[in-house]
Amino acid sequence: MGAASTIGVLALQGDFAAHARGFERLGCVTREVRTPAELEKVDGLVLPGGETTTLIKLMKETGLWDGVLSFSGNGKPIFGTCAGLILLARKVVDPQQDSLGLIDVTVQRNAYGRQVDSFTASGSAQVPTDLTPSVGLDRRATEADLELVFIRAPKITRVGESVSVLALHDGIPVLVRQGSLLAASFHPELSSDLVVESIFEQLVTHTRKKRRRPSATV
Ligand code: GLN
Repeated sequence: MGAASTIGVLALQGDFAAHARGFERLGCVTREVRTPAELEKVDGLVLPGGETTTLIKLMKETGLWDGVLSFSGNGKPIFGTCAGLILLARKVVDPQQDSLGLIDVTVQRNAYGRQVDSFTASGSAQVPTDLTPSVGLDRRATEADLELVFIRAPKITRVGESVSVLALHDGIPVLVRQGSLLAASFHPELSSDLVVESIFEQLVTHTRKKRRRPSATV
């Protein structure tokens, strides 16, 4: 078995420390990412909750905007939560703003209400069949219970054909995946289960295995 995956957490602003703790509980190595050079050292990246207007400004100033685009262009996995989902979305409305445009969804900012309207709900996630979650989930699980914590969350109002919906709340997608990209409108780092972290850890591990070159055949 190879070394554990290194999960980077964008640490420019917002809720990054709690994300690192979740992945560490799964046995992953985590690193805070503040520069493009730090991004190069990780196998997968978490874009945490925060304030997207500030995050966009800081990412552009540090070179991480372009850095994250090439990270994804190289097939490396990214998981965005709340503000991170807004950054990954193809289209952002209310108000419209710039985004990385990597996942084919439209999101409406703050559509679940203000900070005082924050709430927790129960839901369940479909475990992608091409992954074999081994740490935070039962190996044979096809579905797992999860707690959904919403804080000024964006609403996913459209999903493209290439996007699979892994969890719904009131009929609205709240956890989506497109290839090696995963995004949630809720905050998995604030719940006690490790379902979403486990799915992302597996995405990172599978992608690393696929990227590893086969031994030379001479
Ligand atoms: N409302 C924030 C934004 O639009 C996101 C909220 C969050 O990440 N908790 O940037």
